Amino acid sequence: MPISVTFLGTGGSVPSKHRALPSVLVRRGPELLLFDCGEGTQRQFLQAKAGTNRKMRIFISHLHGDHMFGLPGMLHSLSFMGRTRELEIYGPRGIVDFVSSVNRVVKFYSQFPLRVKEIGPGLILNEKEYKVRAASGKHGIPCLAYSLEEKNAPGRFNPTKARKLGIPEGPLWRKLQTSPFIRMGNRKILSRKVVGPPRKGVKVTYAVDTRPCSSIIRLAADSDLLIHDSSFEQAAAQKAADYGHSTSTEAAQVAVKCRAGKLALFHISAMYDDDATPLLTQARRVFRNTILSEDMVTIHLSRNR
Ligand SMILES: [Zn+2]
Ligand SMILES: [Zn+2]
Repeated sequence: MPISVTFLGTGGSVPSKHRALPSVLVRRGPELLLFDCGEGTQRQFLQAKAGTNRKMRIFISHLHGDHMFGLPGMLHSLSFMGRTRELEIYGPRGIVDFVSSVNRVVKFYSQFPLRVKEIGPGLILNEKEYKVRAASGKHGIPCLAYSLEEKNAPGRFNPTKARKLGIPEGPLWRKLQTSPFIRMGNRKILSRKVVGPPRKGVKVTYAVDTRPCSSIIRLAADSDLLIHDSSFEQAAAQKAADYGHSTSTEAAQVAVKCRAGKLALFHISAMYDDDATPLLTQARRVFRNTILSEDMVTIHLSRNR
């Protein structure tokens, strides 16, 4: 199933001229997973043409306004645009209170069932083809990082090899793809002779508003894409430490430690609105395959990077 990651907002704390507040939209086939919902996300979401009535889940990292003030607007817009399917929202303790309090005062949705769930670190979702897990970050308040990890898919079946071995097309071909071997008369044929090795799924990790930390390195192990807090450049390392954020160099060090395929610098401080290239240059000295996330840019990922 193809996966695409669209940065709806890539700034931090306050919106700037070039960056909206944090939100990342992951499309996996027809499904949507939205990580954080900063103020104004619903507009970016519409621009991304994500569709308003798809199976959708929202994961909130923490209860700082820049990561979740967009929720009421998003729910209101979805309702207004005719969503009827259930929507699930996951987040740390307090998310249920936030959503229900706002809804008590301002009835912002009515059309679709809403399920809001408070979660902590661990396995959050175990779907047929993928999992979502969370780990605690290191910030001033409880903050969760999330990873979306596809399960391995069966290896590719090679019909030419199967024919060469004299295996007739039909049920035996199907069996080769699901069992370690088949029997044909008195012959035993190992599936690995015609089926390639299992194909590793795509893994995307979203870790914002955090100091570099071991729980996130474990969560993000072998991610194809690591989206990591990079609020500041290295000259502001003390500021990053004081406010529970990371520099781009620190993000790059995390990418090295977790053997990421690609690093996207994210939650860029408005201080760098005119020029964020120092963040990119510094990170690339540590981890070459780094990009600077930009609003409304999409990355496509597929199995076997
Ligand atoms: Zn933030
Ligand atoms: Zn925060």
